[in-house]
Amino acid sequence: MVAQILDGKSLAKKVQSRLQVAIKEAMINKKRPPGLAVLMVGDNPASAVYVSNKEKSCTKIGMASFGRHFPANTTQEELTAVIEELNQDANVDGILVQLPLPDHFNSIALLHSIDPKKDADGLHPVNLGKLVRGEKGLRSCTPAGVMEILKEYNIPMAGKKAVVVGRSILVGKPLALMLLEENATVTIAHSKTTNLGEVCREADILIAAVGKPEMITADMVKPNAVVIDVGINRIETPDGKGRLVGDVDYNQVKEIASYITPVPGGVGPMTVAMLLQNTYESYMTNS
Ligand code: NDP
Repeated sequence: MVAQILDGKSLAKKVQSRLQVAIKEAMINKKRPPGLAVLMVGDNPASAVYVSNKEKSCTKIGMASFGRHFPANTTQEELTAVIEELNQDANVDGILVQLPLPDHFNSIALLHSIDPKKDADGLHPVNLGKLVRGEKGLRSCTPAGVMEILKEYNIPMAGKKAVVVGRSILVGKPLALMLLEENATVTIAHSKTTNLGEVCREADILIAAVGKPEMITADMVKPNAVVIDVGINRIETPDGKGRLVGDVDYNQVKEIASYITPVPGGVGPMTVAMLLQNTYESYMTNS
């Protein structure tokens, strides 16, 4: 049996079309579109691609984009002042600082300076705290995107064994909490986990968020498991062009899993869709 593909790209388009319609309707009363400000510092080429995708998607669905691009020598104080200004700007509903920032920045202090109501990335401690408590709040985009995929394909989670490989604050930890919220029995694995293969083989739902190309091999996957690949890794190819692969050995694993996300076209597009959704939710709740 070959696994069914969990098509994050199509789902992201569906979410964005839904938002486009909802924005059009909401604007009749609110008289302004939702606004998202993506802040980027320096010239990291990968970040530039991500930021450009976010801004294009934003404009496409009728959101206003207040993105700003700063030179690499911008100071912490200057960026904090911009965030404070955006916190007060009634036309801005979501603020996102594109990571990684140049080394001289204290990223955590900057993330903390974003008004939690405008925290489109869901990484402010107030929003992470709400997730821990199971309260409504802005959820981190990548894990929220994974949950949307699982729900769209009616993957049962209650009572299932979920293993999340990776414990970052960006992906692994919030994802584990979201799976717990859906009553899965959750294990978090990381670089110090012993017998990783054995742990992964227990999973009905296996999620890889590590950043190591194709490290999850078929022998680590239980037959018929649902496999979600969050990883995005660029590998060298003989033609020198390189290509993107996930943390899962897709070609092998698709032969034994029941469902699998591709890379690209799986979780990645859903991250952007959830960013737009968070911004829309802030707009509806706070303005
Ligand atoms: P981090 O580097 O912050 O975290 C990686 C995690 O993987 C850590 O918890 C680390 O463990 C764990 N790990 C590292 N090596 C191993 C190993 N050999 N065995 C088991 N666990 C291991 O990465 P992120 O969470 O930020 O990102 C993970 C991947 O997801 C990356 O490829 C990134 O590009 C991708 N990503 C994709 C997004 C998307 O939109 N699709 C968005 C965000 C990230 P420890 O804590 O012990 O060090």
